[in-house]
Amino acid sequence: MKKGKKLYEGKAKILYTAPDKGTAIQHFKDDATAFNNQKKATIEGKGILNNRISEHILSSLNNIGIETHLIKRINMREQLIKLVEIIPIEFIIRNIATGSLTKRLGIEEGTVLQKPLLEFCYKSDSLGDPLIAREHIYAFNYCDVTALNFITKQCFRINDFLQGMFKGIGIKLVDFKLEFGKTKNTSTNEKILLADEISPDTCRLWDATSEKKLDKDLFRKDLGNLIQGYQEVARRLNILHEQSNVRPIKFSKPTEVRIKKK
Ligand code: 5GP
Repeated sequence: MKKGKKLYEGKAKILYTAPDKGTAIQHFKDDATAFNNQKKATIEGKGILNNRISEHILSSLNNIGIETHLIKRINMREQLIKLVEIIPIEFIIRNIATGSLTKRLGIEEGTVLQKPLLEFCYKSDSLGDPLIAREHIYAFNYCDVTALNFITKQCFRINDFLQGMFKGIGIKLVDFKLEFGKTKNTSTNEKILLADEISPDTCRLWDATSEKKLDKDLFRKDLGNLIQGYQEVARRLNILHEQSNVRPIKFSKPTEVRIKKK
């Protein structure tokens, strides 16, 4: 499929126009950033793994009736998606306390929350994605009440589904970030779709037994080889095509990531 002009370049992805109106091509880069762009690296193969993992997760969500922007994966690094207007809020769902929650409120690292916690952050790199309240969302018209109620329900439903999916492969879904967008149809049939990606870049995933990190914290906190962690997630999801001579946990610097074709 022929890519058109670049619409937007973010830290981990690029969006290009696609031949059909209302669609776009989402390209996954190998770039990794953390701490509001202060830490940067290029990690060969990360984009390929995130493309495949996110495709798998968003397709699974589509199958249970959660509408997403994903149309199909078109190659190793790219997906065809529905073009949406992103709501400028990061929806953070937490099951276990870690990261900014522990820093902000002094909650002990690893505390299992009595019920999932939904937080809202305003999407702004220059402001460092600040935490906001529901009232800010209404006051500054980031999203209306009906849309926010719908998204809130979707967030908890997605959490239920993903927690179960990861539990089945020995992984704890600690927390994750979601983004939603509005289709640019006429306002009468405007739809809210789950957008962006769901991958180890946007989730915290811990091995259920050892609590070994399998997500972007490997890069953020220099905890180990990020590709090995992401490959382990893909392997457990049964979407990594393993070579017979490759042992998933042990090898140190893979140069090639092979993804199963559908
Ligand atoms: P925290 O607020 O603890 O830093 O992050 C909570 C969860 O949301 C983590 O799973 C983290 O990966 C995800 N998250 C929050 N903000 C961002 C962001 O700007 N980019 C990405 N990739 N993930 C984010």
